[in-house]
Amino acid sequence: MPELPEVETVRRGLQPAMEGARFDKVELNRPDLRRPLPKDFVKRLEGRTVTGLGRRAKYLLADISSGDVLMMHLGMSGSFRVSKDDSVKTPGAYYHERSAARAHDHVVFHMSSGATITFNDPRRFGLMLLVPRAELADHPLMREVGPEPLGNAFDAAMLARACAHKKTSLKAALSDQKVVAGLGNIYVCEALHRARLSPKRSAATLATRTGKPLPRAEQLVAAIKDVLNEAIKAGGSSLRDHRRTDGELGDFQHNFRVYDREGKPCPTPGCRGTVRRIVQGGRSTFFCPVCQR
Ligand SMILES: [Zn+2]
Repeated sequence: MPELPEVETVRRGLQPAMEGARFDKVELNRPDLRRPLPKDFVKRLEGRTVTGLGRRAKYLLADISSGDVLMMHLGMSGSFRVSKDDSVKTPGAYYHERSAARAHDHVVFHMSSGATITFNDPRRFGLMLLVPRAELADHPLMREVGPEPLGNAFDAAMLARACAHKKTSLKAALSDQKVVAGLGNIYVCEALHRARLSPKRSAATLATRTGKPLPRAEQLVAAIKDVLNEAIKAGGSSLRDHRRTDGELGDFQHNFRVYDREGKPCPTPGCRGTVRRIVQGGRSTFFCPVCQR
């Protein structure tokens, strides 16, 4: 499942093709993705202009001149292909390669920018919805989404408050989209390693009894912001490579410190530990039992 840095790099890749451009033609090759596409989807988009392309958590949000917002989610396997003139690219930094099989091209936007934007999704867990802008904040998919980790409002005090009375592990708390938006298995493991905190530690230990942040909450917030910013930067750099025509892979995976590195030496300077894999909540967690406490 793509996490925040992947979605943000997709947004940056789509921006030049979509922002300020009109939907000249919209093609639907099937009636549904994870959910049915809106019945009047084509009619509500054709002839309208994208006034801005934003992101909230793992959702791409295209503001449409009609007052609607086009909500898009990549699901497990979704990707966008942008074709213009002779170049074809798939913006985004994915750990797993994306499909290029035309059979999975479900939605095609022909934009007045000259770009054709194709949504491809073999497993169809992706999503496209149209929501009036005024109703977006109360939409069931948006209502309970937690703070943006790269936003100014997300700090140690906020994280400590959210975790103070949790009975779960730090790994589970950070994976909870209500606590913080957009993190998944990869970046939770990476952030905890940077903060030298064990994924098994109780989430409540970030806060004092009264819910005030302890220094480890500060460390963790800094680690989350650093790892996401670095991953976005690495994904962004791969966008400049227009020569590759199928699944552009970001460079950040080469910088993983623990994720998918079971049995490798811990990269923390001076640490002689070995990266271990355990299963938490049905998902693999990678960590160093020596320097993560
Ligand atoms: Zn270590």
